[in-house]
Amino acid sequence: MRRIVTALITALALPLTAAAPAHTAEPADAYADLLVKKVKGANVEEHLRAFQKIATAHGGNRAAGTTGYDASRDYVADKLRRAGYKVTLDPVQFVESWTENSPPALTETAPERRAYVPKQDFFAFEPSPAGDVTAQVQGVDLTLPPAATPSSTSGCEASDFDGFVAGRIALVQRGTCAFSQKVRNAGAAGAAAIIVFNEGQKGRTEAEQLDIGEWRAGIPMVYADYAVGERLAGTEDATVRLTVDSTVAIGTDHNVIAETRTGDPGNVVMLGAHLDSVPAGPGINDNGSGSAAILEVAEEMARFPVKNRVRFAFWAAEELGLLGSDQYVASLPRTERDRIRLYLNFDMVASPNFAYKLYDGDDSDDTGASAGPPGSAQIEEQFETFFGSRDLPTVGTDFDGRSDYGPFIAVGIPAGGIFTGAEGSKTAEEAKLFGGTAGSAYDACYHQACDTIRNVNGTALDVNADAIADSAARFAFDLSSIPRRATPAHGGGG
Ligand SMILES: [Zn+2]
Repeated sequence: MRRIVTALITALALPLTAAAPAHTAEPADAYADLLVKKVKGANVEEHLRAFQKIATAHGGNRAAGTTGYDASRDYVADKLRRAGYKVTLDPVQFVESWTENSPPALTETAPERRAYVPKQDFFAFEPSPAGDVTAQVQGVDLTLPPAATPSSTSGCEASDFDGFVAGRIALVQRGTCAFSQKVRNAGAAGAAAIIVFNEGQKGRTEAEQLDIGEWRAGIPMVYADYAVGERLAGTEDATVRLTVDSTVAIGTDHNVIAETRTGDPGNVVMLGAHLDSVPAGPGINDNGSGSAAILEVAEEMARFPVKNRVRFAFWAAEELGLLGSDQYVASLPRTERDRIRLYLNFDMVASPNFAYKLYDGDDSDDTGASAGPPGSAQIEEQFETFFGSRDLPTVGTDFDGRSDYGPFIAVGIPAGGIFTGAEGSKTAEEAKLFGGTAGSAYDACYHQACDTIRNVNGTALDVNADAIADSAARFAFDLSSIPRRATPAHGGGG
């Protein structure tokens, strides 16, 4: 193996002998040096200007479901095809519109009859599918009376539904995880409908209209106040009729997926960035920056054979709830998932008031979410080493689930990446480390019309493009730091 790789590195270094470093003992080191040299901030900026042009020509944005998104998709796919990649357009569904045709209805039909008041006692979750279900209610891991502080994990774990009788209506309490996760778990357990009720602490008792961005469970879903939940949970064999009368219009966008033609398909190194903006603006920092940076890395990488297969993803509909990455991961058969050794995410890498933040793979910051899957710490370390080699400081950023790495770590794929900050404020300590303005947002134009070509820090963009190139190149040749999760069906290659 080593011999083949060494020969290959010698071959690819040939045209660059003059520029090549003296020590080329390790192929990963040599390739990283080479790729970092080839990747240019100016090329990344050219892609950013193209995204700005696209937004300007399409009503000022590149959001899911718009011609601005389609034009961004076509631009990226075209560049990748010209570079020699095998490019796939991977369909992604999203909710184009949701219409409530008439108010929802929730009526206890047994043991007693009692009708609850729509838009007061309960609301249909947006975008609930239509449905008319009469069934027994079954509580799912409820904490009644509620704990002193919000902490219910009702419906957050698939195992909460052990013993759930398919065809019943799941009664679930608010708390800990996203409503969408509770709904998905209920759907997977065969629930005919779901009633989520507010958790019950002070300030957490009323129902309200909420958009949870989830509809794929295909079941009607409502959000009820605490009193409804308490009553239904306390009534033995309560049966209810639940009606949601709505129309969900589904649209389709595409992830752009590109893969190197070389490298072991049993060992896939994956890089991703979301390509959609919010409707409010052109989305040049969020996330033209990450898209443009990995596009430039992909174009330069295409010139040389790699040992491991490298796959680039430009995600659709991230701003609508990570839909592109979520549907992609969900669609992969287990064996395909197991081949993805790691996932690197780049979402906002040129914030005007930037900090170099690395996803906290080892949870060394001890805040928020716990550590990423095994291997995530090593990914963070590799980025740290790169920044360290340039005498640049880094800080951690929590795996808070706000970008496309979420679906990957949820299935155990180690992840990492760089983030330069969004609407949060730069701390005094960060201003000392990185310069810029303490107490101001990292990106004051976050999700606004002013996230234009003027809303990027060129230095951060250039450094991060190099950091991406460095890590991509190293993992393209050496995955020894990343633990293997399962044996792929067949390996081969390098
Ligand atoms: Zn973003």
